[in-house]
Amino acid sequence: MVRAWVTTTRSGGKIGFAVVRDGTGYLQAVVAKQEVPEAVWERFRSLTQETSVALTGVVRIDARAPGGVELSATDVTILGESKDFPITPKEHGTTFLFEHRHLWLRSRRQVAIMRVRHEVVQAIRDFFYERDFVLVDTPLLTGSIGESAGTLFETDYFDLGKAYLAQTGQLYLEAAAAALGRVYCFGPTFRAEKSKTRRHLTEFWMVEPEVAWYTSEDNMRLQEAFVSYIVERCLERRKSDLEVLERDVTPLERVTPPFHRLSYTDAVTKLQSQGSDVQWGSDLGADDETRLAQEFDRPIFVYNYPREAKAFYMKENPDDPRTVLCNDCLAPEGYGEIIGGSQREDDHDRLLARIREEGFPEETYRWYLDLRRYGTFVHSGFGLGVERTVAWICGIPHIREAIAFPRQMHRLYP
Ligand code: ATP
Ligand code: MG
Repeated sequence: MVRAWVTTTRSGGKIGFAVVRDGTGYLQAVVAKQEVPEAVWERFRSLTQETSVALTGVVRIDARAPGGVELSATDVTILGESKDFPITPKEHGTTFLFEHRHLWLRSRRQVAIMRVRHEVVQAIRDFFYERDFVLVDTPLLTGSIGESAGTLFETDYFDLGKAYLAQTGQLYLEAAAAALGRVYCFGPTFRAEKSKTRRHLTEFWMVEPEVAWYTSEDNMRLQEAFVSYIVERCLERRKSDLEVLERDVTPLERVTPPFHRLSYTDAVTKLQSQGSDVQWGSDLGADDETRLAQEFDRPIFVYNYPREAKAFYMKENPDDPRTVLCNDCLAPEGYGEIIGGSQREDDHDRLLARIREEGFPEETYRWYLDLRRYGTFVHSGFGLGVERTVAWICGIPHIREAIAFPRQMHRLYP
């Protein structure tokens, strides 16, 4: 007996077919009118898209059937009927599909994307486990500010005033790195992004490793090994899902270390020579990122950005104090930034000066400064966005399909 949902049906006068899915795959079921009681034949013929059924019968090998086997059904029980399932094989608009995301998830492409995401997540965990990193879960409700104050979600927190949803676990992870050496956190992060781009959600998953004694160079080597590992795993184990998505995997097969490295300053010169109006000092926009990455056949690192374009905790570059020791990793094929990383400022006074410069409440950062007061240490880390990585590997244009229930500025339903 198989319990499953009906995907498609087709029937002639004497023989009926139904493709059903049970979550693990698809199976073709056949009923011959002459071989079953009239009631079974009628029930089979009444099946509609997404009806849940129990099918009894014999499974036979059939090379022509999807999945290579076919079920000759002798009985069918309707478990849950489904009248006028809203998502039909015809084309639907994006808005309609996201309104019906809870049902849309059942479709072939969405299932394939979720399986790739599952593989990415498992690869992330395996990569760090194999390298003796310790998982440390960081708080989602925080008092301190990680990235930029403009994109914080705030909430009332009892008598203590405001709490904020975490934009990153990094600051806490730095404390954990001093305890355990190699650590990572992996969970949802929140940013009240008011931009409606293909690359921004308000809730997304980020994996953040932090390593004691790692320089910015070491950090980039870890990133290229990490990204290559994730891609390789998907190629190895999710080939059929990538096929469903019609993903050309040749660009993915080229993703191996070393990635090309380009300093921010060289990147700006290059972009200007190509007609971009980017000015030294500002962060690179999505178009600039796309243009830069286009020239290379695998991800690239752009390193050492101007300090004013980046977060306060990044270490000042001793060779050029206008810049900080950091890097972004840009995916090829127009996918842009998937990683932001840096060596962290380990000098107490410089860090304090930066916190004051930003006008952050010093008291909130007391614990963070303590890390520089008690046994300060060279350390680096990065954050990789899961949805951007999944979107790139799947070759889908927008990251909102890379998570089951995307959260965007204009979307909270379903
Ligand atoms: P961007 O400039 O594209 O907004 P960022 O510089 O704010 O990115 P980081 O703070 O460095 O990004 O975050 C690390 C990673 O988290 C990014 O490289 C990206 O993969 C992911 N990320 C950041 N913001 C978002 C978002 N709003 N939605 C989905 N992923 C995100
Ligand atoms: Mg951002």
